Amino acid sequence: FSSEPSLQADSTEEIGFKGHGMLAPFTAGWQSTDVHPLVIDRSEGAYVYDINGKKYIDALAGLWCTALGGSEPRLVKAATEQLNKLPFYHSFWNRTTKPSLDLANDVLNMFTAREMGKVFFANSGSEANDSQVKLVWYYNNAMGRPDKKKFIARSKSYHGSTLISASLSGLPALHQKFDLPAPFVLHTDCPHYWRFHLPDETEEEFSTRLANNLENLILKEGPETIAAFIAEPVMGAGGVILPPKTYFEKIQAVLKKYDVLLIADEVITAFGRLGTMFGCDMYNIQPDLVSIAKALSSAYMPIAAILVSPEIADVVHSQSSKLGSFAHGFTYSGHPVACAVAIEALKIYKERNITEHVNTIAPRFQEGIKAFSGSPIVGEIRGLGLILGTEFVDNKSPNDPFPAEWGVGSIFGAECEKRGMLIRVAGDNIMLSPPLIMTPDEVEEIVSKYGGALKATE
Ligand code: PLP
Repeated sequence: FSSEPSLQADSTEEIGFKGHGMLAPFTAGWQSTDVHPLVIDRSEGAYVYDINGKKYIDALAGLWCTALGGSEPRLVKAATEQLNKLPFYHSFWNRTTKPSLDLANDVLNMFTAREMGKVFFANSGSEANDSQVKLVWYYNNAMGRPDKKKFIARSKSYHGSTLISASLSGLPALHQKFDLPAPFVLHTDCPHYWRFHLPDETEEEFSTRLANNLENLILKEGPETIAAFIAEPVMGAGGVILPPKTYFEKIQAVLKKYDVLLIADEVITAFGRLGTMFGCDMYNIQPDLVSIAKALSSAYMPIAAILVSPEIADVVHSQSSKLGSFAHGFTYSGHPVACAVAIEALKIYKERNITEHVNTIAPRFQEGIKAFSGSPIVGEIRGLGLILGTEFVDNKSPNDPFPAEWGVGSIFGAECEKRGMLIRVAGDNIMLSPPLIMTPDEVEEIVSKYGGALKATE
């Protein structure tokens, strides 16, 4: 999960890391003078420009989030109008604002995989997932089962970087040196068929084995101690890992059997990225709780939310006189400016039929990039809709990683950057998640720059 220092050293010479005061997130070498940040200055549609004026196609949509690109005037107008009218009021203790009430209803109306009851607002995906844990604990305490507190997440998942969300995440870099994961978090298999299937095992058999492993883990720990299972419909930062056939169907059956709640972490997948409005629609997932963030406001303002099933919401409401209020929330929960922007973003997704647009451009995006699967350094190219990952390996085999010091993923990332394209690099996995509003020409540009960078890396 290492971050990759930009190789654009000379273009931003005057801003050496040593010379500025920021401790940058997920950034290696922040005390070194030879690592220079790539400083992004402005954006326009699917493009961003650095401080030297160089143009890049933003093939990661910021960090999987600027779904509507970088210059949507309606979002700017929504923010400006709200800033002029009421820049802030909180939502604690039965005081709130109209944008937060309206957004909660809009989100509930948009999520149709099952009926949801309430929405709780946070400011980031990490906060949303932390809030999930506290809500589930509060719920189980209210239900009179104080031992049902453990969470099961999956290896290679990413759920955020706060203490709890980093614990839920299944990436070693988030645990090592931080004394994590917290003891109430257990990890089960990563559902990556290409990497982990047994010889001759079909996708369905692989899913059955993983569901059995989950059941065995629940039985070993004691079902009365397992509160919830959290999963991204498609794993993002772990390398764009799609669930194998029948996976969610089988996992959900196990969870139901042992009364374990299902949390869908839709921080990346919500609002069209897979070609359906939510990842839950794509995989027929009926979660008890959902986390959303990123495209909720197309990242123009920080905002996240959790959707709570009517059953859980009812218990929390009816028990709060006995247990005390759900004493959890943030000054900026339901920030009116962020909510006003999110309301407008959701309107745009509907008016412009964003899922139809994604389904129009995604086939060429997927096929164009997957056409490079024959490259000798490519192990697997995988994706769906407008999310795509590539894993570089030697000999086309998941068992033959390139030596880490070769930095194949970083070289590819630098070659993309040279050609004016920004992507995500994590070791020898690289990821694309472009703005949903891309035009067919922009898809061609990504395919062509990917191809050029790949040739140069080979
Ligand atoms: N959950 C998922 C699936 C994510 O991809 C991310 C961020 O990439 C998070 C949670 C954490 O979100 P944030 O960075 O807003 O805290």
